[in-house]
Amino acid sequence: MHVSVTRYKAYTRDNVHTLPQYQRLSPELQFDIQVVSAVLPFRVNPYVVDELIDWRHVPEDPMYQLTFPQKGMLAARDYAEVAALIKKDAPKDKLQAVVNKIRLRLNPHPAGQIQYNVPVLDDEPVPGVQHKYHETVLFFPSAGQTCHAYCSYCFRWAQFVGLEDLKFAAREAGQLVEYLKRHPEVTDVLFTGGDPGIMKTRVMERYIEPLLTPELSHIHTIRIGTKALAYWPQRFVTDDDADDLLRLLERVIASGRHVAIMAHFSLPRELNTPVAQEAIRRLRDIGCEIRMQAPVVRHVNDDSNRWARLWREGVRLGMVPYYMFVIRDTGAKNYYDMTLHDALHIFQGAYRKLSGLGRTVRGPVMSATPGKVLIHGIANVDGHRAFVLSFIQARHADWVGRPFFAQYDLSATWFYDLKPLPGRTWFFTETSSPAHTAAD
Ligand SMILES: *Cc1c(COP(=O)(O)O)cnc(C)c1O
Ligand code: SF4
Repeated sequence: MHVSVTRYKAYTRDNVHTLPQYQRLSPELQFDIQVVSAVLPFRVNPYVVDELIDWRHVPEDPMYQLTFPQKGMLAARDYAEVAALIKKDAPKDKLQAVVNKIRLRLNPHPAGQIQYNVPVLDDEPVPGVQHKYHETVLFFPSAGQTCHAYCSYCFRWAQFVGLEDLKFAAREAGQLVEYLKRHPEVTDVLFTGGDPGIMKTRVMERYIEPLLTPELSHIHTIRIGTKALAYWPQRFVTDDDADDLLRLLERVIASGRHVAIMAHFSLPRELNTPVAQEAIRRLRDIGCEIRMQAPVVRHVNDDSNRWARLWREGVRLGMVPYYMFVIRDTGAKNYYDMTLHDALHIFQGAYRKLSGLGRTVRGPVMSATPGKVLIHGIANVDGHRAFVLSFIQARHADWVGRPFFAQYDLSATWFYDLKPLPGRTWFFTETSSPAHTAAD
């Protein structure tokens, strides 16, 4: 397949005005971008701008909503305060003070979400590692903590604007390897971020190669969580070190392990470009499995037909639909979130349009403090309308797969909004509260 070469370039608040597409936006939309991106992170690249966004339908275009700052992402009062300062060209430090105040309010967990579930090795916390569920260890390499573009709803936004430092992340894999040697129950290591797909191959190599030692034969799967297939598929096709990356993944497979690319795909058009299809083909050719996951988000993909097309097209390209998530409550959630009721409706509408090969997907799923909670549907229980739920993953393995019920609530948007049916309790004690959710 012929794929033309695009060179990566980051567009942020500072240089977005150089984009011809930006210059053609109305002054109001340009101003919204300036105001909102003063507070929340913004980054796109030429591929997202030229090939994914449909500029004829801006601002409604879902890809534009996914990547460009929207006025509604800030509370009206916050927007007005920042707008007034920018309009009168206020001194930088004054603007920064207001911006910081708003950021701290949007991010109620400045101590760092990732510090939870950090395991201990010889009485010391292991940097860059989270171990919550028995089989799977999450690993945050320090070089993988940004992305090729930013999703406007991202719950990791605080780290992109420097509000959370990156000390939690790991510079090298030494302690991870030591930890894994002592944990034979772990089968999966999941590289996550940010986006590990931002790392140069020679950097990724330094993290992955040490895991291939025979002493870690209990590690069966290396997973890489990435949105690079959607935001920068060139990473796997035309970048200078794209071939080296494939060779690295081939070595993992040759060591007898499975490579699972946990690909973040939000919209069907992310699968439509020749370069994205070539990237998928190349990864599959060497034996990687690609699983598709994304949150369901208002203004972006709150439409069951869009999801059905995404999953169908994904299956056609040889990928495996995996999770549809409910978004978490940090940052611009009010603009993007939707009720559990709507998320369920969208999920079921799409699921019913798939063959069995697409029904590997599970959702809507909330990654909450006690575990990953799946909403199965709505039923009548003891004369009450109820959400039927179960854990896909849980802090305690024996919680997994046991159905439980919550009072049906049309306005609930997250697990902590839910309650047991009248006169009943849940079989687990630990629930999530707003003070804890971002820490799961
Ligand atoms: C989602 C998640 C995993 C992986 O769960 P799978 O169901 O195996 O994909 C592992 N650890 C944490 C903390 C998670 O949130
Ligand atoms: S790619 Fe992932 S980590 Fe990066 S901005 Fe999007 S959701 Fe956040």
